[in-house]
Amino acid sequence: MTGDVFDSKPLPPVNAETRPFWDACAEGKLLLQRCDDCGAHQFYPRLMCSACGSRAVHWVQANGQGEVRTFTIIRRAVSAAFEADVPYVVALVQLAEGPTMMSNIVGCPVEAVHIGMAVEVAFEPRGTMAVPVFELAGGPASRLAGGLAEG
Ligand SMILES: [Zn+2]
Repeated sequence: MTGDVFDSKPLPPVNAETRPFWDACAEGKLLLQRCDDCGAHQFYPRLMCSACGSRAVHWVQANGQGEVRTFTIIRRAVSAAFEADVPYVVALVQLAEGPTMMSNIVGCPVEAVHIGMAVEVAFEPRGTMAVPVFELAGGPASRLAGGLAEG
């Protein structure tokens, strides 16, 4: 599968429902939908609330914190574009607001990832877009930000 479209990582499909999400990712913000009627958060984006059927769903910013619910380690690249990444982790992350999101756990050895691990969102540039990934909570990015805040 070399020499074809699989040489570059796929870009997420963007449509009217998902555009606000991807636009926010490009700005380093993770958005979820929240239902005005029942208060439930949901991901992926939908036209109506998956809990109560209300159409009063609006975008809110997630706090970016989550927990690894389950994961797998990918040791054989699915295409040439991912060869430099193996081994890497694909995980289901349960966000603090409730919804789960499939993503990658980055910034630590794959052997360090475990169920229940506290993680926080980061963003991996991909073309003109950015995709949400997760790293150990309190990791290098957080410490850097904290250090800057402390002067
Ligand atoms: Zn609802």
